[in-house]
Amino acid sequence: MRKNIVAGNWKMNNDLSQTESLLADLKNQTKTSNAEVLVAPTFTNLYHAYEALRTTDIEVAAQNMHFAENGAYTGEISASMLKSIGVTTVILGHSERREYFNETDELLAKKVDAALVNDMTVIFCFGEELTDRKSGNQENIVDGQIKNGLFHLPATAFKNIILAYEPVWAIGTGETASPEQAQDMHAFIRKTLANKYGNDLADSVSILYGGSCKPGNAQEIFSKPDVDGGLIGGAALKAEDFFAIVNAF
Ligand code: PEP
Repeated sequence: MRKNIVAGNWKMNNDLSQTESLLADLKNQTKTSNAEVLVAPTFTNLYHAYEALRTTDIEVAAQNMHFAENGAYTGEISASMLKSIGVTTVILGHSERREYFNETDELLAKKVDAALVNDMTVIFCFGEELTDRKSGNQENIVDGQIKNGLFHLPATAFKNIILAYEPVWAIGTGETASPEQAQDMHAFIRKTLANKYGNDLADSVSILYGGSCKPGNAQEIFSKPDVDGGLIGGAALKAEDFFAIVNAF
């Protein structure tokens, strides 16, 4: 049985005191669902968040990392550095990283490898842009992103992979994929996995939806059979909203 997961991506939001207050609010929430919960603060607040949440069942993830172990990569953070502060999950391939920092499929494949060598879990993001959706090309785009980023991996690696389908046109725009659009794409993603690795593996991988997921629409999206949770941006910045989504299962 695959896991239900709700992950909050805080992006470049919250200084230390804002982070402290969001962490305190999160600790006051009650989880009534079976979803696993993660939050991804900025690097400067990562260790603080890890320490604050270590007595809870909320895990802390990083929003990015470099593929190298160490060396002359000014401004970068490695997998082993994350692990050294207790962080064992990393978001890779977010559309903002792809768009603003030119992260390509090839670069992401190297980052995925570095995370897996370090026994980390990867939340691997991908999704089509509006022009692709309008021209009906969304499945080709997603197919390419998954294959280029992940299909060099052996089947055993997928126990540490969570997929996050995030249509770019729905991220931070207030426009959400309809539950049917999400389900159709998630079913396509699972079929793509099954064609390469078989049904058992495809059925075991959690596929999250991301893109303006909110308390008001989470339940309907999560009710779809191939949607195993959400990657949440804006609505993860308020503990009450985030937990309304966590509890939408
Ligand atoms: C995201 O950035 O991963 C995201 C889904 O953002 P939002 O929920 O704000 O659309």
